Amino acid sequence: MSSPDPETKMQFLFALRSRGVTDTKVLEAMEQIDRGPFVRGIFSDRAYEDTPLPIACGQTISQPSVVGLMTQALQISPRDTVLEVGTGSGYQAAILAKLARRVYTIDRHARLVREARMIFEALQLPNITSLVGDGSFGLPDQAPFDRIIVTAAAEDPPGPLLAQLKPGGIMVVPVGQSDTVQTLIRVRKTDDGLDYDELRPVRFVPLLEGLGKDT
Ligand code: SAM
Repeated sequence: MSSPDPETKMQFLFALRSRGVTDTKVLEAMEQIDRGPFVRGIFSDRAYEDTPLPIACGQTISQPSVVGLMTQALQISPRDTVLEVGTGSGYQAAILAKLARRVYTIDRHARLVREARMIFEALQLPNITSLVGDGSFGLPDQAPFDRIIVTAAAEDPPGPLLAQLKPGGIMVVPVGQSDTVQTLIRVRKTDDGLDYDELRPVRFVPLLEGLGKDT
């Protein structure tokens, strides 16, 4: 898998910093994981632009600065187990894998999981487990999780995911109607309950029920 030229990479990292991605460990992870392999076909020459791009099954790979800001908001430590709902291209999961001990990622489209898995293998990221399923129910067999990231918009943070968060855990999720601007929120589970923090406006594809038809 070829890397971008140094100038392109520098501009990419500059765009991240100028949009608020300042955590050194997150920037290092995003420097190590090139976005190119996760963008296929006609959009591949735009992989290093700070913009969301179409991927298979009518889905999108998120804007890199939003990936960085969501990762930063999770405050991951190297011992953490992270659940990502919405594998998509696999780009976000690969970045999480550089920061956490283990990453579980789930998508309702089998094709996306299959393609992402091939990239994880090529990049030698053995600490990612990728699964096909409706992630709004989480992964009860692997729960609880230190961190949960949802990369599709829900009307409210899904109850099963809140239940699968460890005490002291953090979840980042875009909430709101799918056809409007949504709000990225961070939920912390404390001894007294749940603390909610509004982070910024975002726009994500919706969190849908059931399995997807592959296209
Ligand atoms: N994180 C991805 C990346 O790095 O490319 C981008 C994710 S894309 C914006 C949202 C993804 O959520 C889509 O791939 C979609 O199939 C998936 N999705 C939507 N509803 C889901 C659900 N209930 N369970 C699992 N995945 C879901």
